[in-house]
Amino acid sequence: MAAHAFRQRGCSMRCSVALAARKVKLVCTFLVACLIIGIACYATFAGGRREASQLDTAPAPVPSIAAYIDNHAHADEDDIPGSIEAAVQAMPRENAIQIAFLPPPFLSDAAGKYDAEAILSAARKYPGRIVALGGGGTLNVMLQDAVNSGNDGPEVKRAFVKRANELVRLGVVGFGEISLEHLSPPNYQYAPPDHPLMLILDDIAARAGIPIVVHMEAVPSAMPLPQGLKSPPNPPQLHANIAAFEKLLDHNSNAKIIWAHAGTDYTGYRTPELCRELLERHPNLYMEIKIEPPAPGLNSPLAEGGAGPIKPNWLKLFEDFPDRFIVGTDQRYGPKRTPLIGPQRWGAVVGLLNQLPAEVRSRIALDNVRRLRPANSISPKLWSTP
Ligand SMILES: [Zn+2]
Ligand SMILES: [Zn+2]
Repeated sequence: MAAHAFRQRGCSMRCSVALAARKVKLVCTFLVACLIIGIACYATFAGGRREASQLDTAPAPVPSIAAYIDNHAHADEDDIPGSIEAAVQAMPRENAIQIAFLPPPFLSDAAGKYDAEAILSAARKYPGRIVALGGGGTLNVMLQDAVNSGNDGPEVKRAFVKRANELVRLGVVGFGEISLEHLSPPNYQYAPPDHPLMLILDDIAARAGIPIVVHMEAVPSAMPLPQGLKSPPNPPQLHANIAAFEKLLDHNSNAKIIWAHAGTDYTGYRTPELCRELLERHPNLYMEIKIEPPAPGLNSPLAEGGAGPIKPNWLKLFEDFPDRFIVGTDQRYGPKRTPLIGPQRWGAVVGLLNQLPAEVRSRIALDNVRRLRPANSISPKLWSTP
């Protein structure tokens, strides 16, 4: 009995030891599992934080509150139809109802030079939504050649007039992009704003009822090349151009001139004050707004490098001249490398539009373009979009 009892006690002791060992094993397994889950959770959390911080630094652009027309976009010259397709796909994201493509201001030796014909043929698929300006690949080339050669004789003028009239017949909604002062990169271009060929173009534009889009850094008086720009290709000294620009504006009051890129100034003189003076003096002057956060220039309308709130002096300018500004993002589209080539530009202009008082916003986004375009370039259906 005693022996049996001892055996029983011994057995129960062995059993308790085995049970305890199993418990310890279970606890250890539990702790290891907790550790693994903990590490996994931390990794996920840290990854999420990384993603969140990346988003913080590069927020996705938000669409415009008001439907808008972008009067200034460029295509990848290697695939113009594909670029236009990319723009059409981007339009709902942007809340753009129409995008105008224009050939950039080419020089005569440029590879891939093209003009309105290439845009118009691709735009046929999207009537009303994609329109073309023309002349960057031909008229601008003729102008730059005339300046560089000093030859603006009768033959040069005849060829220029012929081409300008041809573009009107093709149905362009404006002439552009014409360079009057264009810093490199990609190349340097200059023409006096009151050059005889510009005065001719001014008269043709007035007759046709279409505007001219000009690219011109502001140079009120001759100045050395701003710091940070390479010479060559830029000249060490820039020509004064504001007085000659005013002559162009005065030449034919029926011609509407759109001074592109208000908001990206690389000389330091395209200030809201200069814009105000010229808008006051010339009722036929309009401006396209462009903002480029990676290179905001010296007078961005938005604080914080072109991504923050509107600066008060620019806001006052937009409020005082709500009928004279339009959207001209200078966005490059192209599917070959990426649907958006180069810097993301439309988002910054939309960032500005969204901050404007509603009444000013609707005019800049949409209404003002109507006075700058032939009546048939904006269908009433698009126009009725709220
Ligand atoms: Zn330009
Ligand atoms: Zn441009």
